[in-house]
Amino acid sequence: MKVLKFGGSSVGTPERIKSLLEILKSYYSKGEHFTVVFSAFSGVTDSLLEMSRLAAAGDESYKELFEKFLLRHQEAITALLKDNQKSQVTAELDRKYHSLSNVLNGVFLVREATPRTVDYVVSFGERSSAFIIAHAMQQVGIQAAYLDARKVIRTNDSFGFAKVDFHATYPLIREYYSQHPEIQVVTGFIGATNDDLTTTLGRGGSDYTAALIAAGLDAEAIEIWTDVDGVLTADPRKVKKAFTIPTMTYAEAMELSHFGAKVIYPPTLQPALQKRIPLFIKNTHNPNFRGTVVTDKRDPSGRAITGISSIGNVVLLTLQGGGMFGMPGIAGRLFGSLARAGISVILITQGSSEHSITFAIPPELAAKAKQQVEEEFNYELEKGMVDPVKVELNLSVVAVVGENMRYRPGISGRMFQALGKNGVNVVAIAQGSSELNISIVIAKGDEAKAMNALHEAFFLSDTKELHLFIVGVGLIGSTLLQQIREQAEYLKEKRSLEIKIVGLANSRKMLFNEEGIPLDQWREELEAAAEATDLAAFVSRMKSLNLSNTIFLDNTANGQVANFYETILESSISISTPNKIATSSSFLQYQRLKNIATRRGVRFMYETNVGAGLPVLSTLDDLITSGDRIIRIEGVLSGTMSFIFNEFRQGKKFSEIVREAKERGYTEPDPREDLGGADIRRKLLILARETGLKMEAEDIVIESILPKEAEEAPDVEAFFKILKESDSHFEKMSAAAEQQGKALRMIASLENGKAHIGLKTVGASHPFYALSGSDNMIVFTTERYKERPLVVRGPGAGAEVTAAGLFAEVVRIGNYLV
Ligand code: ADP
Ligand code: ASP
Ligand code: MG
Repeated sequence: MKVLKFGGSSVGTPERIKSLLEILKSYYSKGEHFTVVFSAFSGVTDSLLEMSRLAAAGDESYKELFEKFLLRHQEAITALLKDNQKSQVTAELDRKYHSLSNVLNGVFLVREATPRTVDYVVSFGERSSAFIIAHAMQQVGIQAAYLDARKVIRTNDSFGFAKVDFHATYPLIREYYSQHPEIQVVTGFIGATNDDLTTTLGRGGSDYTAALIAAGLDAEAIEIWTDVDGVLTADPRKVKKAFTIPTMTYAEAMELSHFGAKVIYPPTLQPALQKRIPLFIKNTHNPNFRGTVVTDKRDPSGRAITGISSIGNVVLLTLQGGGMFGMPGIAGRLFGSLARAGISVILITQGSSEHSITFAIPPELAAKAKQQVEEEFNYELEKGMVDPVKVELNLSVVAVVGENMRYRPGISGRMFQALGKNGVNVVAIAQGSSELNISIVIAKGDEAKAMNALHEAFFLSDTKELHLFIVGVGLIGSTLLQQIREQAEYLKEKRSLEIKIVGLANSRKMLFNEEGIPLDQWREELEAAAEATDLAAFVSRMKSLNLSNTIFLDNTANGQVANFYETILESSISISTPNKIATSSSFLQYQRLKNIATRRGVRFMYETNVGAGLPVLSTLDDLITSGDRIIRIEGVLSGTMSFIFNEFRQGKKFSEIVREAKERGYTEPDPREDLGGADIRRKLLILARETGLKMEAEDIVIESILPKEAEEAPDVEAFFKILKESDSHFEKMSAAAEQQGKALRMIASLENGKAHIGLKTVGASHPFYALSGSDNMIVFTTERYKERPLVVRGPGAGAEVTAAGLFAEVVRIGNYLV
C-alpha cells in the first residue's frame, strides 16, 4: 500500500487536477495499491479563514469571498465531471455549503469566530476538493470512494492545532480500510474529537494526514506530490539556484521543515519515522523526476550540509539579570511557563555565563510570551534579580542542516565567513548538541542575502555570482561592459564566475534588473529606462536589493559619486573605481574609507587610479606585505606628459604639441591640469599613502614647467597664446638636454618621506630614457630590488587598458568575496 498526497498547488486548477488524474490512472492500471489524500484547492484555506475573520468583525464582504468560493468549486465540477455526476455532486455540495453559509452567518451575527467554529469552517476546503476529485477519479474508471478523515482521525480539542490520539486513530484507519476495498480518497488536514467536533491538524497538515494513514496501514511508502522537484537545498523562492536533495534522513527533514522548509509539514515525519516508512517528495509538474527520498539511511559520503532553511519573521526574547547566575531551575521555569501558555519555541541560546537566556518565537506570540515569563519571574523582577524581558523584532532564523556536519570540522567557520563577507550581522547563534543544525538569528532584511551567500558557500563553491552596480557608462564604462560580455562565457566555464550587471546608470537614466541586464542590449535598455538618474536613489536601491557579493563601480570622475562611498562601504558593498577624487582628498578621508571597508569585511579598490590598467598599486602592496622596504619610488605617471615630451624630441614646437595632445583628447580640458602637475600629484599622493605615509596634497613639491603668466592666464586660449611665446624657452631646454645625450621627463619621486614632481633630464642608461608613446613607468627601488629596481611599464591611459584594469579588479574582489 502506498499513500499519495497531493497539495493545494497540485489541485489549484481543473487543468492541474486533470494532469494528476493521469498519474493516478497510471498507478491504477499498473495494479498498485494506494490511497490518496488531498488538500483544499490552493488558497481556499486562506480564503475560508478570511471569511471567518471578516464575518466575526461584522464585515459583510465575507459574502463576496463566499460567492467566489462557490464559483471556484462549481467551475471545477463543470470542468471535471459529466452530466449525471455533475448534478449529483453539485446537489451534495450545495447541502454542505448551506450549512457553511449558516455558520458564517452565525459568526457574523454574534461577531465571534471561536477556534472551534473556525476549524469547522476551514474543513469545507478539504471536504470539497477530495469530494470532487473522488468523483472525477470514478469517472476516469478508478474505483474510488470519498473518505472524510473525521471518521478515522481522532484528536484532542486543541482547535487549529489538534493533537492526534494515535492509539484511537490507527485501529480506526485499519478497520475502515479493511471494510472498504475501493481506492480511498481522503480529506487532508482535518480530524475529529471523540465528541465528533471537527478539528484541524495545523497549517500544511494534509502531509500529516498522509503519514497517519500510512502509519495506520503500515504502508510501504508515502508520496508527497507538490509543485517543486522534491526537497531542495533551500527555498527556491529565496534561492534561485537551489537544487533537489536526492536523499536525506528523517532527522534532516525534520530539522529543515522545523526551520521553515514548508515543503514537508514537520509533524509528518514522526509517524513515518516510527514505522520506518520512506517518504518520497515528488513534483506533479514533473512526475518522472525522481525527487527526494527521506529514509533513515545517512549517506556518509554525502555533503556536509544537506540544506538551508529559514523562518522569515521571528522575535527574540531575552531574560537576563545579575541574579540569574548559578540559580538552578531558571530554564525549567522559563520554558515551563511558555509551554503552559502553549507557546512553542523555535530556538534557544544561553551564554555560558548563565547571565541570560534568549529564545525565538513567532511575532504574534511575543506579547503573550513576555507577559507569561514576567509573571513567572514576578518575584525576581521585583527584587531586581532579573530585568524586564527584552524583545527584539524583525528578525529571521536561518539554519544549515546536515547529519554529516557532525563528522566534519570547519562548518561553522565557513558559515560565518560567508556571512561576514556579506556584512550579515549575527544576532544569536544556536547549535544543537546533536550537531544536526547550526541556526543563526539575523535581521529580517538580510535573510535572502544570507541564504544565498550560505547556499553559495556550501553548495556552489564552484560557481560564484557577482552582482555589479555601475555608475558611468562613458568610454571606460562601456568598454568594460564590452569586455565583460566577451569574456562572460570563459569566466563561467573556466573560472565558474558569473558576473551580473544589476544596476546601471549614466548621467540621465538608471536601470535595474536582478537577473542581470543583458550585455548585448544594455544601451537600448538604458536609453528606454523610465527612471531618471538620482544617485541617492541608485545607492539606496542597491542597498535594499541586498544581494550577496555586491560590487559598486564608479566610472566617473565625479565628486558627487565619491561622496556616497562611505555609506556604500558601510552597507558591506565593495567598491572598485578609477575615480581618484576620494583617494586623493584629505588623508583623513582616505583613511576613513579604508577603515570602513576593513571593518565591514569588504574591498575598496582603485588600482586604476595610478597607471590605468598597470599593476602599480598591487605590486606596491605585494612588496610591502612581503616585508620589503621601499627606498624610492620614481615614476612617469602621466601618459599625457610622456606623449608631449616624446613628440617634443621629434623637433616640433612645444605649444603645437600641447595643442595636438589636447585635440586628440589626451589632456584634461584645461591642459594646465597636466602640465602644471595636478594630475600627477594626485597619483603620487595615492602612491605615497599606499606606502603608509600620512601625506596631504600640499606636502608634494611641484616644480612647474610653465611660466607664471601661462599658469595665471584667464582661459585656455590665453594660455595657449602665452605658451606659444615660451616655445623658445622650451626649445633651449630640449637642445641642452640633447647635447648631453639626455631626454626630458616629467618625473614624480618619493624618497625619505618627501614627494617631488619636476622636469628632469635623464641619461640613456636611465629606465625613463627610452619611454615611448604615452607609456607610464614606475620604478620601485627597495631593499630587495636595490641593484636593479623593479619596473612596471606600459600604456598608462586609454579606455581599453583602464577598463581591463577594472575588470581584473572586479574578478579579484570576487575571489575575495566568495
Ligand atoms: P503543497 O501545497 O503541495 O503542500 P506547499 O506550498 O505546502 O505545497 O510546499 C511547497 C513549497 O514549499 C514550494 O513551492 C516551495 O516554495 C516551498 N519550500 C520552502 N522550502 C523548500 C525547500 N527546501 N524545498 C522545496 N520547497 C521548499
Ligand atoms: N489546506 C491546508 C492549508 O492550507 C492544509 C494543507 O494544505 O496541507 O494549510
Ligand atoms: Mg504543504
